[in-house]
Amino acid sequence: MIVAIDGPAASGKGTIARKLAQEFDFAHLDTGSLYRMTAFLVLEAGGDPTSPKDASAAARAVADRLIDDEALRTREVTDAASKVAAIPEVRAVLVDYQRNFGNSPPALAGGSPVKGAVVDGRDIGTVIFPGADVKLYVSASPEERARRRHLELRDRGEAAEFAQVLADVKARDERDASRDISPMKPAPDAHLLDTTDLSIEAAFEAARDIVAAAFK
Ligand code: C5P
Repeated sequence: MIVAIDGPAASGKGTIARKLAQEFDFAHLDTGSLYRMTAFLVLEAGGDPTSPKDASAAARAVADRLIDDEALRTREVTDAASKVAAIPEVRAVLVDYQRNFGNSPPALAGGSPVKGAVVDGRDIGTVIFPGADVKLYVSASPEERARRRHLELRDRGEAAEFAQVLADVKARDERDASRDISPMKPAPDAHLLDTTDLSIEAAFEAARDIVAAAFK
């Protein structure tokens, strides 16, 4: 069973995906971390995130070094991630990793048998797993997403003006939705979940009900 979750930054999709994975004994892949890691490696090597040569070399090294680290969440890496993500060679390199994960999900840490995979990103329901059993497209207004992101940055001690965070969120939405390759958009058969006025618990419950219905 594959659950595909797409949507823009700070829509709540990552948290919903993690909670669904716990609830249903699914392995979880946050595909944004693949693009963030690619961006991180380019910057670490002093390369240019808009260069297909630099970025595809970094993408090839990603699977070996995949880490979920605070260093991947800085503003600089976040901005560079949406630049490397617009490069076709980078996306081509990362496709296999994502499909292998979904088709053969890794064992769960707790030892329970793995029952499927929940994969979140921007193009999971449209390009990576067009045949996914359940598709969700999670969104929220840009202002609400900027508010969440602003709090997250503040908690991490990265000071930023709200207006700047909102501008960053809108710029990244624009880049992700308008690129030629695998643009961010809902699959025609995706369930739409707007979390603007929902607590994370309420958003999770709505997602859980949709996935549970697919099990029946
Ligand atoms: O989800 P997250 O904010 O971590 O993603 C970082 C960036 O990676 C996004 O802005 C987007 O450009 C890119 N991305 C993508 N396709 C995915 C996941 C992320 O293009 N499936």
